[in-house]
Parts: sequence; structure tokens; C-alpha cells
Amino acid sequence: KIGGGHLAIMSGPCAVESKEQLLEAAKAVKACGAQFLRGGAFKPRTSPYDFQGLAEEGLKMLREVADEVGLNVVTEIVNINDLDMICKYADMLQIGARNMQNFQLLKEVGHTNKPVLLKRGLSATISEWLNAAEYIASGGNYNIVLCERGIRTYETFTRNTLDLSAVAAVKELSHLPIIVDPSHGTGRWQMVRPMARAAIAAGADGLMIEVHPHPEVALSDGDQSLKPDNFAIVMQEVRQIAQMMGKTL
Ligand code: PEP
Ligand code: MN
Repeated sequence: KIGGGHLAIMSGPCAVESKEQLLEAAKAVKACGAQFLRGGAFKPRTSPYDFQGLAEEGLKMLREVADEVGLNVVTEIVNINDLDMICKYADMLQIGARNMQNFQLLKEVGHTNKPVLLKRGLSATISEWLNAAEYIASGGNYNIVLCERGIRTYETFTRNTLDLSAVAAVKELSHLPIIVDPSHGTGRWQMVRPMARAAIAAGADGLMIEVHPHPEVALSDGDQSLKPDNFAIVMQEVRQIAQMMGKTL
């Protein structure tokens, strides 16, 4: 259950890099109460020369590790042609910020029975985002969770500007659960902890947080990835705020 008083924590590395890396991350996040293992097997990278993901090999690792540790798998789909393959391995499909208005992709995931995590586009208004969710729902798939992951503004200190007011706006406009991703929302691991706390206090139904056993050698998003010990601290604090909000974790 996600929403309705149940917080969902989705954590793991930005990209699946190896079985060892994934297993170490999965054990750490499971121990702190996460229910979902995240990890990209298909990475939408800014440069074509950056690590693009392990594709099906990465999906297999996600499934194996998640089953071993006892977690659900959420992973990003970037290409309609991979839909059947990804559905074999994943429990939840992630639509990334760059694909929020890939209407063909939205329609196709709307025809599956997999829950969908719909990230907010880099420059999407809340109305455009909710319309993107409507594309999924119009295919008959109502299991949609929104994810605020920061929007592009003139600020350059942070990777994106985390729009926590979107949580309150979505609560007013929609019945859909909304989680917050302070990792992509800030781009800086030091800011993940305070923004995670604020997200839950603002009424978010969960968090997506990047955790890597060795962020300094991560193949993507190392600067915003928490080490397991810091993630444990964040989760302790989030638990306290969750209690105050009357939510279970
Ligand atoms: C991710 O979750 O790793 C990712 C690429 O996120 P976003 O689509 O929000 O940039
Ligand atoms: Mn990432």
C-alpha cells in the first residue's frame, strides 16, 4: 500500500552497476525499512558517452537481489520496446522526468497492470504532470504514484529546485499519492537529509532516495547518493516525523 497513511521508501543506487554493489545497497536499505529497491538498468544520461546501464543483465540483478533481500523492484523504462521485458522483472515501472510527456510511453504503461511511478518533468507544471498521469489512467491503469524530483530554475547551486509546495498542491488537486525524491531534487547528498524530513512533514507519501555503498566510485549520481550509514540516520528522523504525521512506515 502506498498512500492513505502508508509511507513508501524506494532506495538503492542510481544505476545498477554490479551484483555486489546492488546487494550491499539492498541489504542496507532493507535494514532501515525501505520496501522498494530502486536502480536503473536503462539510464537516460545527458551525455551519450556516460554509462548507459546494464539493460537486461541489470534487470535480472534487480530481481535476484530484491527477492533475496525481500524488497519490491522499481526501475525506469525509457523505451516502449523494452516494456514486456521490464514487466518480467519489475514490480513497479518508473517514468523518468525526461519522459513525463512521452505520451506513447504513458499510454503503453497505462495498458499494463504494473503500478507506475510518474516523475515530474524537468520543466513541467503541476497541471501538465497531472495530465500525464491521466494518460496512464485513461488506459485503465489507476495504480499511479507521483514523484516530485525538482524542477529547473535559474538556481545553479542545486541540481534542481525541489518544489515541496507541489506536495501540497497535489494533495489539493488529486487523490494520487505523491512521493519526493530529494536526491535528484538537490543533487547534493548533504541536502538529502533535511529535504527528506521536510517532504514527510509537508505530507508526502514516501521518498525516493539514492543510496550507494561507495558513492565516490558511483558510475552515476555519486554526488547525491547517501552512504548506508547516513541513510540510516535519515530514516530514523523520517520515522519520527512520520509518527507525528500519523503515518505508518
Ligand atoms: C533516476 O531516478 O535515476 C532518474 C534518472 O530520475 P529523473 O528521471 O528524476 O531524473
Ligand atoms: Mn539518479
